[in-house]
Amino acid sequence: MDSFAMLKDGVSFDRKRFANDISLFSESLPQKKPKIEAPSTNNIRKEFKIHTSGSNIPEPISSWSQLFQLYPFLQKTQDLITKQYENLTAVQMQAFPLLMQKRDTIAIAPTGSGKTLAYLLPLISLVKNREKLKGLIITPTKELARQVFKEFVVLSEGTGIVGQLIRKRGKELEELTEDCDVIICTPLTLVHMMGENDLPSIEFVIIDESDQLFDMGYLDQVDQILKKCQGGCTKWMFSATMLPAVEMLAYSMLIDPAKISVGIQNATVSTVSQELKFCTNEAGKTIALKQMMQNGELSPPVLVFVQSKDRAIQLGKEIKELVPHTLAIHSGLDDKNREIIVKNFRTGSTWILICTDLMSRGMDFHGVRLIINFDFPQSVISYIHRIGRAGRAGETAKAVTFYTIEDAPYVKMIANVMKKSGFEVPEWMMKLKTPSKEMKKKLEKKPIKRENISSKYRISRSLRKFMKKKHQQSSEDQAEEKI
Ligand code: ADP
Ligand code: MG
Repeated sequence: MDSFAMLKDGVSFDRKRFANDISLFSESLPQKKPKIEAPSTNNIRKEFKIHTSGSNIPEPISSWSQLFQLYPFLQKTQDLITKQYENLTAVQMQAFPLLMQKRDTIAIAPTGSGKTLAYLLPLISLVKNREKLKGLIITPTKELARQVFKEFVVLSEGTGIVGQLIRKRGKELEELTEDCDVIICTPLTLVHMMGENDLPSIEFVIIDESDQLFDMGYLDQVDQILKKCQGGCTKWMFSATMLPAVEMLAYSMLIDPAKISVGIQNATVSTVSQELKFCTNEAGKTIALKQMMQNGELSPPVLVFVQSKDRAIQLGKEIKELVPHTLAIHSGLDDKNREIIVKNFRTGSTWILICTDLMSRGMDFHGVRLIINFDFPQSVISYIHRIGRAGRAGETAKAVTFYTIEDAPYVKMIANVMKKSGFEVPEWMMKLKTPSKEMKKKLEKKPIKRENISSKYRISRSLRKFMKKKHQQSSEDQAEEKI
């Protein structure tokens, strides 16, 4: 794809020039009358902060019964869905009728707002004839692919539609996809498995966490996959974030695309309260973590983000001393181990999960009430996604981001996104200098060099006992909430 090659060589989109060029002939273009929409549509969009662009965008729907009228095939799952979910989320209201049109779409909606369901239900309905493999869902990590696959299995129950999670298992892709309607995988796995073969029967390609999949690390693979699926397949791109340059790239790959966005683009969820905590230096961060434990602020399950595999291992060792049931997950572990760790965290047998950004995209853990950014995130996008692992589907939570003197030049970029997301930020912080584009790019490419994590402290019996009690209490609270 030419546009890919262009961006890879570092050519950037010149907005000013584009605007200038357009203005030169825009006056001679026939002026379209603004479309007058039915008031009900506008009301729903206004109330749920749904914005759309593109031609012929259908009205949003606001109830499950409207969905089942639109997609009669989904009647089979009606009970299952309506028992589980009372209302549609904003992105679902607009995506359900829009995706029905089988057209290229970009959908941007906050973390934890039900995007998976928004694309899975239309997909299940649209592949209903079951003649051949029609759907492909790609996600950046294996963990997310597994999570989406599990949701697919639940939602397709009773429909006869078959999904397959693709992993490297010594089997041929053809064998794995035999009698299967939808495959779910990471781009790297699929590229390995496809070899020279094409995927001609694919009609729908869903790119989840699409802005990350257009990152340099994945771009070539996504490009290769899309080339193999040519033949007019429909592309749906979903994410909570999309920067303008990436959006331009996405648009270049789509035909007559529609866009849905919900709320403020590239902001955090409003359900997670956020704090920036100055810890002076690396040792100060470990002390701050210990203090939070002593103050009873660490109600499991807790996610702690660090910037690298090595630091996940180091902090894992440190915290294990303090809190039993702590595990670290990172790309250095094999698939089986990663799968077990995620499962343990979901079931509550792991209280604190230390992780890298491997876990920051798309993972849906219920009941996480605290996110700690032990290492300062390398970008605003990473921050938004890390924070988004909590506060899902309306839950409330808290996030604390540690920063040291080394991180200080970048604090304003997080303060800005906090403010944009509707949180109060101390006045002095807003007066700090925003880091330059070059600085931000440098940080994104390479994390800040930090001292190894180690401390000499040992946990007292009383603190260990306290943590155990706290966990029991929090499990009881959650059980009560479910009742
Ligand atoms: P996103 O992809 O937008 O980050 P997910 O699709 O992972 O979010 O969904 C987050 C959570 O919201 C999941 O636990 C999902 O089951 C739940 N969910 C999805 N749709 C609804 C709904 N209509 N009402 C309530 N919860 C929902
Ligand atoms: Mg998602």
